[in-house]
Amino acid sequence: MPEWPDLHVVRGRLEKALVGHEIALVRVGDPTVLRATRPVETFLAHQRLTGIRHRGKFLIFDLDRGRIVVNPMLAGVFEIADAESKLTRSTALSLVFDDGTDLRYRDDKRMGKVHVVDLDDDLHEVHGFGELGPDAGDFSWSEREFADRARATRRELRNLLQDQTFLAGIGNAYADEILWEAKLHPKRRVATLTDEEMSRFYRSLKEVLARGTREVEEGLPPELGTKIRDHMQVRLRKGKPCPRCGTPIVKTRHGLDDMYLCPRCQPPPKGQIR
Ligand SMILES: [Zn+2]
Repeated sequence: MPEWPDLHVVRGRLEKALVGHEIALVRVGDPTVLRATRPVETFLAHQRLTGIRHRGKFLIFDLDRGRIVVNPMLAGVFEIADAESKLTRSTALSLVFDDGTDLRYRDDKRMGKVHVVDLDDDLHEVHGFGELGPDAGDFSWSEREFADRARATRRELRNLLQDQTFLAGIGNAYADEILWEAKLHPKRRVATLTDEEMSRFYRSLKEVLARGTREVEEGLPPELGTKIRDHMQVRLRKGKPCPRCGTPIVKTRHGLDDMYLCPRCQPPPKGQIR
């Protein structure tokens, strides 16, 4: 799923390519993911894109008379294509701008949501948007404030990282990376962290997202359309040696999700099964 670093970079790229341009043609491929109260083809046509914003796992496209709010969920990706090239079956929406640039949103799992709303509609009514915490890659809490807020939740670390009302934008991949960096087991409870561990948790979160953003910026091709994961240390690396200690990385379940960790660097909490 696209996470904070992915969408941060995608926003910048799309802003450069598209802001100021007018939508010349709207094509709806697969309407499953669209959430709109009116026909989007006629509503969006001839609107000018005035800005693009990023919040957590959402991108917001500001137009003359409306907005498009996209939550890509598990598999949604943005692509910049040539308008002449064929639309794939999973292309939900294609916006061809006045210079011929085609912005496409593709969603192989059809789990994402593309909300098309009026300018005066309240974005807080978009599912999940109103409750978002500060952006995970760009929040201003001090280490102390972070620790206080984290401890107040009494949650397990991985659940806390993925709680969009705490910090917005972290999903499975960066949660695994942050916890590996911090040498903390995902099921540790916040309340059990020593001051030193809490400090490591905070610094790892900041560092891993900043590094991820740099790596995505470097690796993402001009046409977008993919997720950059090569820089990850444990995610999708089952059986490969831990870059720190050489122990094979373990893949396990965490609720409905897959989780990757180093069993040596990230020992399970006492009295709990791994
Ligand atoms: Zn290790």
